[in-house]
Amino acid sequence: MNAAAPDAKPLLELKHVKKWFAYRSGILFKKTGYIRAVDGLSFTVNKGETLGIVGESGSGKSTAGQLILQLQEPTEGEIWFEQRKLTGMSPKQLRAVRSELQLIFQDPYTSLNPRMTVKDIIAEPLSVHRAAEGRQLHRRVAELLHEVGLGEHHLNRYPHEFSGGQRQRIGIARALALRPKLIVCDEAVSALDVSIQAQILNLLKKLQKEYGLTFIFIAHGMGSVKFMSDRIAVMYLGKIVELARRDELFARPKHPYTQALLSAIPVSHPREKKERIVLQGELPSPANPPGGCGFHTRCPIAKDICRREAPVFRQYSDSHGASCHFPLQ
Ligand code: ADP
Ligand code: MG
Repeated sequence: MNAAAPDAKPLLELKHVKKWFAYRSGILFKKTGYIRAVDGLSFTVNKGETLGIVGESGSGKSTAGQLILQLQEPTEGEIWFEQRKLTGMSPKQLRAVRSELQLIFQDPYTSLNPRMTVKDIIAEPLSVHRAAEGRQLHRRVAELLHEVGLGEHHLNRYPHEFSGGQRQRIGIARALALRPKLIVCDEAVSALDVSIQAQILNLLKKLQKEYGLTFIFIAHGMGSVKFMSDRIAVMYLGKIVELARRDELFARPKHPYTQALLSAIPVSHPREKKERIVLQGELPSPANPPGGCGFHTRCPIAKDICRREAPVFRQYSDSHGASCHFPLQ
């Protein structure tokens, strides 16, 4: 008897995706090079799960999110969504898919038009996609506001009349309007106070359950990523250096960079002791990444081979992989 569920296909799949930005420099702007913002990403995301993407500022997280949302075209590689290859689709085909993919940004203040009322902000995607009109539109907007914990009395107000947390709720309502399947949350709570962060994260979890949403949750610190994610991908210089189920990553990180990020989370109890690993130096420029292992210039355990050879990404179990010549035990 075969009790195992048939292998479900992933909702999203990235295959060796790269995004290199060309730049010019030198006296006559003739010298060209590439900023390797995203440098060979491969991963899958299953329906209903949250994949966290974590890494320092400049590691390529937002670019990865933009590529997934088809807001940027990859230099190389393929992106598949529900067995459909998004890369290479015509603009018309893409338009149909786009409503299924939505973005929640860090700063809703810059993304919400200050001259539009809340009602118009949330109604806009519905009108553009001709998803509702008239009374039905009004009802849907009110319903969305209610879903995110706001009320009808907020309908005719403007973004500046709201607090940061409330504005993020408006941004979430707008992202939900077209009933998307996948939402990329790019530093969605990073600008908010910790107590407000918790409220928004709980709201996102509630909505995920209700709507069966799939999230890609991007942040530069482990705190909110830990709370939200089923699996976590750690990015460094445009590459994933470790990807594992959340609890496994926290209990047994394989990559010294992951270990350093974990050590930076504040302790929750005063008697809890933890040694903070402070990485030396800055993130190297993605325009001129180090040879060998990209992390070797800051790695506390780097050896000769790390300077010479790039480590391959190895699977240690079905749910845990990393790229390091000297993985932690
Ligand atoms: P993160 O979100 O992790 O902070 P980003 O994806 O924003 O990282 O950026 C990754 C790298 O790519 C950075 O070095 C950034 O300066 C560069 N970059 C991002 N967008 C562009 C662009 N449009 N043109 C040139 N360089 C870019
Ligand atoms: Mg970013």
